[in-house]
Amino acid sequence: MTKVPTTDVDRCVRQVRRLVRAGCGLVRIAVPRRADTIAFAQIVQKVRVPLIADVHFSADRAVEAIEAGAAKVRLNPGNIKKQEDIFRIIDAAKMHRVAMRIGVNEASIRDLKKDPVPPEKRTALMLDEMRSYIRLFEGRGFDQIVLSAKSSDALRTIEVNRAIAEAFGYPMHLGLTHAGLPADASIPSAVALGTLLAEGIGDTIRVSAAGDPVIETEIAKSIAMSLGLLERTRPELIVCPTCGRTEIDVVKLAKQVDKALRKVKKPCRVAVMGCIVNGPGEAADADVAVCAGRGKADLYRHGQKIATIPEPEIIPRLLATLETL
Ligand code: SF4
Repeated sequence: MTKVPTTDVDRCVRQVRRLVRAGCGLVRIAVPRRADTIAFAQIVQKVRVPLIADVHFSADRAVEAIEAGAAKVRLNPGNIKKQEDIFRIIDAAKMHRVAMRIGVNEASIRDLKKDPVPPEKRTALMLDEMRSYIRLFEGRGFDQIVLSAKSSDALRTIEVNRAIAEAFGYPMHLGLTHAGLPADASIPSAVALGTLLAEGIGDTIRVSAAGDPVIETEIAKSIAMSLGLLERTRPELIVCPTCGRTEIDVVKLAKQVDKALRKVKKPCRVAVMGCIVNGPGEAADADVAVCAGRGKADLYRHGQKIATIPEPEIIPRLLATLETL
């Protein structure tokens, strides 16, 4: 999702392009005001990736975004007060062949504000709310829908999305709301989204984290890659955790290797190990491994030792070996 003012078209387009380069296949843009949907129409013309209009509270914004060329509109129908307004949005989406993502959020489920719903009842309530929205859309003859049930709680996210996957046959978008700073967001997102994806649930994902959206994309890609759902396009770096046998500064060496690998566009597995005794065995499935001792390292290619090299030559020799893969 972009994080610059939508009305700043040039910045927004630059951020969309950065997200695409980072691996995003869809980009969502907030359109809270009329000026935003006008800008959205210009952004659509300048990028190739499908754009999703993020709409809250306003049927007018949803219809304007649809007419502006949105590929999909994200809507929490509970935020649109009048049913006739929801029908207006559905009719526009139908006419322009635009998909709709129907969202239910734990924080805004009915009765929660008036009469707090105990946690054990929230999943059922979210499911009921989703069912009522689906009936509303299907009743109007519209089925181009994607379902999304969000919570800031990893376990609730898993529970409610399992229930939705079992109850309905529509595509699903997965994500946690308000997941935190990147370091805090990555673990709950990996737990919740990883669990669901491993069970075959979910068609698109978004990791929410404060800060640069490219970081969100990188976390999301790591989750998908670790489950084998996305092909690696760059090296995977494995680093030994270090122990009492370690004789060199493994973290420093690993950071140098990590920096050098950013220029490599080849999917492969590289290991940096902290000793020459257990390192080779622990890195046996790496394509290239550096098992470092004091002032030198043994270099392995597909599990075979090919050289012993002095410390200053580790990075260039490692990169040269990657070229031979
Ligand atoms: S590779 Fe060597 S230094 Fe690293 S954790 Fe294993 S035994 Fe310890």
